[in-house]
Amino acid sequence: MTDSAVSPDDAPAVELHDVGKTFTVRHGSVVALEGIDLSIARGEFVSLIGPSGCGKSTLLRIVADLIAPTSGDVRVNGKPARRARLDQDYGIAFQQAGLLDWRTVLANVELPLELHGVARAKRRARAEELLDLVGLTEFAKHRPPQLSGGMQQRVAIARALAESPALLLMDEPFGALDEMTRERMQNELVRIAGETGAAVVFVTHSIPEAVFLSQRVVVMSPRPGRITEIVRVPLDTRTDDTREAPQFYAAITQVREALRGRPVPETVEVGVAIEQAKGAL
Ligand code: ADP
Ligand code: MG
Repeated sequence: MTDSAVSPDDAPAVELHDVGKTFTVRHGSVVALEGIDLSIARGEFVSLIGPSGCGKSTLLRIVADLIAPTSGDVRVNGKPARRARLDQDYGIAFQQAGLLDWRTVLANVELPLELHGVARAKRRARAEELLDLVGLTEFAKHRPPQLSGGMQQRVAIARALAESPALLLMDEPFGALDEMTRERMQNELVRIAGETGAAVVFVTHSIPEAVFLSQRVVVMSPRPGRITEIVRVPLDTRTDDTREAPQFYAAITQVREALRGRPVPETVEVGVAIEQAKGAL
């Protein structure tokens, strides 16, 4: 393996070169991903969007070194994915919050630190700081079943942030939430990503969610999953007002057209875009 000249501190958060994944199944094989090239900068927020089965989760799992790619090269913070996993360079949150019901909220957030041998007082202080960050200080002593779905997801995010990862990997974390809670969580996530400076790779099948959160939306094709388009979202701020902004609707139109396999030019007519996007929501 050739080591790049870039020092890990300067390297992108994620770098994928010609990544492919073929699963062997009983009657043959499934090509889940093909020719994936993608570079995600430090602190950048990128969403992966595409139809069900296009390989979004597979791609995220490859970045996390939970599965190995069949071909291609994966680097996280300039290191091989496995090294990055061992160094705890990233945190993960999935659609199911995956909390331990018998442990308190605080003890759930402490768990990764506990597993890595961080001393009790230190991990408690860190967990308290994180619960404050996600607005759940009052619920530290509660157990997950006593919390709403949105609160449980906030606990999962706090846990994913426990080791101050430079990268957060999220697979449809808000998929099970109602629309209002989901928008609140999106606002929170934008704030948390900003405050921690972490890069985020966020899998979703919601176009408005991808556009609201991301600097870039990576659009994938149905199997075999390939990147068909990368839509840049030119929003300066991301607040509730953003959800009414013409640029927001314009970007939604671009992503939707790309998902349909009909790329639109970057200078989409804003008025037209608003009408089209409203029809799609
Ligand atoms: P997405 O998250 O975009 O819905 P996935 O990454 O879960 O898609 O799956 C991509 C494709 O790979 C699908 O066709 C799925 O059936 C297949 N796949 C995923 N994991 C496995 C596996 N462990 N074994 C066999 N096929 C798999
Ligand atoms: Mg998936």
